Amino acid sequence: MTTIATPDLPALLRHHGLRCTPSRLSALKLLSVSGSHLSSAEVSAELKRLGLPIDQTTVYRTLETLTETGLAHAIHGPGPKRYGVSSEPHHHTVCETCGQVGELPVEQLREAVARIAELAGLHADASASLLIYGRCTRCST
Ligand SMILES: [Zn+2]
Ligand SMILES: [Zn+2]
Repeated sequence: MTTIATPDLPALLRHHGLRCTPSRLSALKLLSVSGSHLSSAEVSAELKRLGLPIDQTTVYRTLETLTETGLAHAIHGPGPKRYGVSSEPHHHTVCETCGQVGELPVEQLREAVARIAELAGLHADASASLLIYGRCTRCST
């Protein structure tokens, strides 16, 4: 049986100088397990579904705080900002029609990033992240 190590989220929050509040903990946990990028409205709706009604303003402020400290990151596309967790580095695709955000694993694009860095004369660091706009399968049909 394989067990996936769940990060110690309260410790992670404290490490980033944040008090461990229920809204921070739940939002971070939700983003971690969802494995996708969600808007504050989606996070709020999902928390409500899980029996954790946290008003949307608090959810929004929580997500902004998590983004400021680097625990989460925000992706701007059409529509609302979407947030993802930063623990697993990844690149992004954004649908310019519906705003859906996709993740691309860094391992598979290592050569592409190296090539871009070479072409641009840029020293890409480990957290270098690509953001590619296009149309998702749903929107391109
Ligand atoms: Zn992301
Ligand atoms: Zn789309």
